[in-house]
Amino acid sequence: MSTDWKTKLLRPGKRAPEGFRSLTTAVTRASTTCFPSAADALYPRVAAQPYPYGLTLTETAAELAARICELEGGHDTLLTLGGKAPVVLIYMTFLRPGDHVLIPDSVYGPSMEFANDVLKGFGVEVEFYRATIGGEIEALIKPNTRLLWCESPGSVTMEVQDVRGMAEAAHRHGVIVALDNTWAAGVLFDAFEHGVDVTMQALTKYVGGHSDILMGSVTAKDPALFKTLKAMHRHLGYGSSPDDCSLALRGLQTLAIRLEAAEKAALKVAEWVATRPEVATVLHPALPSCPGHEFFKRDFKGACGLFSFVLQPHLTLEQACEFIDRLALFEVGFSWGGVVSLALAYDPATINPERRPDGVVVRLSIGLEAVDDLIADLEQAFADVPKA
Ligand SMILES: *Cc1c(COP(=O)(O)O)cnc(C)c1O
Repeated sequence: MSTDWKTKLLRPGKRAPEGFRSLTTAVTRASTTCFPSAADALYPRVAAQPYPYGLTLTETAAELAARICELEGGHDTLLTLGGKAPVVLIYMTFLRPGDHVLIPDSVYGPSMEFANDVLKGFGVEVEFYRATIGGEIEALIKPNTRLLWCESPGSVTMEVQDVRGMAEAAHRHGVIVALDNTWAAGVLFDAFEHGVDVTMQALTKYVGGHSDILMGSVTAKDPALFKTLKAMHRHLGYGSSPDDCSLALRGLQTLAIRLEAAEKAALKVAEWVATRPEVATVLHPALPSCPGHEFFKRDFKGACGLFSFVLQPHLTLEQACEFIDRLALFEVGFSWGGVVSLALAYDPATINPERRPDGVVVRLSIGLEAVDDLIADLEQAFADVPKA
């Protein structure tokens, strides 16, 4: 071998001693992954390699996928850049032209947009159902129904779904059941135990936990479902950054205490908000005023820090925005599940007329600030809200 220093830069003779162990997962960045022999890189043998390419999997990503899979109790997990990508992955895996898909009318906005703008264009029959329909979903199932999408609680309006009842109905007709389990962070609701076939979550939210990564996961119940998802994951060119995976792995270490703190603080804020004359209803799954509260009580191990409330009908969208702008401790922004509290107003006109609330919806993500400071902040902002 050459002893030229330029070669030594790339092919060193001296290496760090083996046997290093720490409490963290190494960040293994890679496009190229190296094979033991030329024959190992030939198709179809290469497809059986655990690490055929950096986009498919790095060691850091494999570690995160394994942990998410173990927590959710599935067969195997795929990771994506961003939490929207799992939505696309599941739709693209299971739907073909002529298929019928059932999606709750409370679904995450970009999921609804994809169904309307892309799936319909591909000839998929898209039907939005009332989020609280429960077992009555059976009446909507047709011979060409392929996929039942669930999201519980629903985005913004927080309807808790009877996932078990819906899954039982779907399975009587061979329909695949998928769940966006982001609110429960994959741990507060046991999707597979309740009959779900494929789960997804935006790891961006509570698993990341610090508003600094964009990641998603898709977990399948069994090998057959996983195999088709994995093939589409490759077709779509999905992957994940090992640096982001390492931040998600760090997030997992404190997920339990962050969720506990968020649950406790958000409940206290929600109960206080419920006493305000400016507020018509509080939409927090753990409170009886939330649609589907009985399913929360039956099925969930706890709540996170995200909930909504509806302002009295006399208050305009503009007044709701002014209320939010008076808050000193709540930032205005998308995404949630981080350590800093967030507030957003939602125009009721954007909500399905059949279940449109009478007032403006305000959604809060409660962070790790002292809860009494958050309540005091809300109180000063409510003080200038026009009374009825
Ligand atoms: C945020 C969110 C997503 C998407 O995650 P991003 O990483 O922000 O793209 C998907 N589903 C739900 C319910 C979400 O709240």
